[in-house]
Amino acid sequence: MTTIQTSNLGYPRIGENREWKKALEAFWKGQIAEEELYKQLKEMRLSYYRKQRDAGIDLVPVGDFTAYDHMLDLSAMFGLVPGRFPYAGGKVDLATYFAMARGTKEAAACEMTKWFNTNYHYIVPEIGQREPKLTHNRPLEAYLEAKEELSLEGKPVMVGPYTFLKCAKGYASSELQSLLMTFAELYGEVLKQLEQAGVVWVQLDEPALVLEMEREELVWVKAAYERMAEAAPGLNLILQTYFDSVHMPEQVFELPVQAFGLDFVHGRQGNMAVLRSRLFPQDKKLAIGIIDGRNIWRSDLAADLELLREISGYITPDRWIIQPSCSLLHVPVTVKYEQLPDPIIQQALAFADEKLAEVVVLSRAYTGNASAEEAAFASRAALLRLNQSPSRRVAEVVNQMEAIDQLSTARTTTFEERYQKQLKKLQLPPLPTTTIGSFPQTAEVRKARRQWKNGQWTEAQYQTFIQEQIREWVDIQENLGLDVLVHGEFERNDMVEFFGERLSGFTFTQNGWVQSYGSRCTKPPIIYGDVSHDAAMTLQETLFARSLTHKPIKGMLTGPVTILAWSFVRNDIPERDVAYQIALALREEVSLLEQSGIHIIQVDEPAIRELTPLKRSEWDDYFEWAVKAFKLCTSHVKDETQIHTHMCYAEFHQIIDVIKALDADVISIETSRSHGELIHAFQEQPYEKGIGLGVYDIHSPRVPEVQEMLNIIEESLKVLPPDRFWVNPDCGLKTRNKEETAAALSNMVQAAKEARKQL
Ligand code: GLN
Ligand code: ZN
Repeated sequence: MTTIQTSNLGYPRIGENREWKKALEAFWKGQIAEEELYKQLKEMRLSYYRKQRDAGIDLVPVGDFTAYDHMLDLSAMFGLVPGRFPYAGGKVDLATYFAMARGTKEAAACEMTKWFNTNYHYIVPEIGQREPKLTHNRPLEAYLEAKEELSLEGKPVMVGPYTFLKCAKGYASSELQSLLMTFAELYGEVLKQLEQAGVVWVQLDEPALVLEMEREELVWVKAAYERMAEAAPGLNLILQTYFDSVHMPEQVFELPVQAFGLDFVHGRQGNMAVLRSRLFPQDKKLAIGIIDGRNIWRSDLAADLELLREISGYITPDRWIIQPSCSLLHVPVTVKYEQLPDPIIQQALAFADEKLAEVVVLSRAYTGNASAEEAAFASRAALLRLNQSPSRRVAEVVNQMEAIDQLSTARTTTFEERYQKQLKKLQLPPLPTTTIGSFPQTAEVRKARRQWKNGQWTEAQYQTFIQEQIREWVDIQENLGLDVLVHGEFERNDMVEFFGERLSGFTFTQNGWVQSYGSRCTKPPIIYGDVSHDAAMTLQETLFARSLTHKPIKGMLTGPVTILAWSFVRNDIPERDVAYQIALALREEVSLLEQSGIHIIQVDEPAIRELTPLKRSEWDDYFEWAVKAFKLCTSHVKDETQIHTHMCYAEFHQIIDVIKALDADVISIETSRSHGELIHAFQEQPYEKGIGLGVYDIHSPRVPEVQEMLNIIEESLKVLPPDRFWVNPDCGLKTRNKEETAAALSNMVQAAKEARKQL
């Protein structure tokens, strides 16, 4: 047999040592000039191409690299500069490009939102403010550069018109059809120029085709693709989907392209069903996304070979392209620099570079290359070692999980009854004031943690420092007149990492960064084994705060779903079970807090919306376990113990029923960034438990006036019961400075007092 083509869909931008982030930030700070930035970015880009080619990838993506975000690149290419930014037409300059991404004094940044169900945030295109025009051909520039500099026959990559528009805002759904044709014209022009330049393959990303779309929309998509195909009849187009299986395969496969890319990791069931029912057209190429682009584990290549063998029954290998399931943007760059404490875990890891090697090994092993076959079995052995390690099956956790159905997942008393008891115990005024948990993580706090972590400071020194911070802020909160106080979370670097470091089953990389948005990167913990509670995690700081005041102190925990969502998770058991394990561990912490006299415990679940499956039909299933996980850690408390939860990141009006099902006594929820949208939602769907709609946006350094916050309280009280309404900011205050925080909270307390007078 001849060889099987290999491909990659996109490569991380950030660099092995976050060079990309450093270059961008140096430019923003004025430390390097534009020319120097371009030079550095170009070096990075070319080195990434080289790496991929040297790994043995046949179709190396070009044009996926960016100076900020790939969606923003398209907006810029089409001249979609929002009206609030000065723009004279033509190619968008770097200053305008970054202004759209980051905002200026005069104009607010473009909105940023999550890319499908990932933790990557893209810049939302704004349609309808300027007429779309092709200002330059970005994929062509990338293609020509790779060809000239490296003699590389790259594969230009861009998001296709349907997904681009579905992810954009500023138009009514009735305009989608005509917009698709407008953009098909522009994409057609791009493709035509690519064809003329001799490009062979182009990848158009259409992940929106995995969503449950209207059949009618697919008719419009087809018309758009026909227009594009007409413009460049000699070009080979790969219509690339990912993150799930295609929603309407029969219609999608009628699109006039030469190859379809399907995700056989996250959409395996659906996409295999498509192949089995012989829906895949025999005259098209199939790009097989088989290496997981969303997680950090090595692939069981021996199992992948079996899957490929099955696929060969539906479409012959001469029509295959083997590739990762999606862009490698979502995983760290390389395992090369890691030195994890446990070599068994280390050997089971594959980041972007290792995943490309896996793609190549698979394609060679399939065609009978002996050393590749050996490598495929070596991957299975490495995973087996991990699976057999005792950390994967801790007897105590196994027993607990087996008995999970015997645990309570409901409070014993109705909300009405227990809320009365809580009020009596807590002696709170109407419209009680509180905060979400964290207070400013100043440079001083971060420095102290660094000194402690690298051994310059003793444990005792660090603890004393943390206690001083707690003392300072308990005093501030008392002086401001807040009703429910917090200790301030100074000991926490991050709301997930902090708990990961204290629970068993978690490990951490040195350099496993992934891009979150712009130059911001996160380093998610890795959940590799059974999760269990070893020792108290939050007691010391919480009780210290409690010793300083007569006001109630609220204990603060991160919820099971959020810990799961913001980690890389083992893939040998269902996510649900990992969530339950975390929940059981947190349940113990809740008990410890309760037994120590903490009467209010908040379990944050900001990520509960974010893990929802892309297909609505799978939502019920997901919410069932997500809610159960929350209740596993919160419902066993006494009537008098008040359970709070917190959520941010908008769109919660879509899941009010889920929020109700959590049965928390009080929820605090982000409101101001979504412009009060949520308040209206409560008009249609009454909410009867305790609730605090955030009265000010903590993302801005601006100190809001008393009256502004009073307005939000008054608006909210039109739709929510005044005897259960709480007054709090939108989210934690760790990113703000001391002065802003104290000033804003002082106004907030004032607003609550004013509002009380009107009750
Ligand atoms: N308790 C956390 C804090 O105050 C909550 C953060 C969040 O919701 N993202 O920082
Ligand atoms: Zn929040």
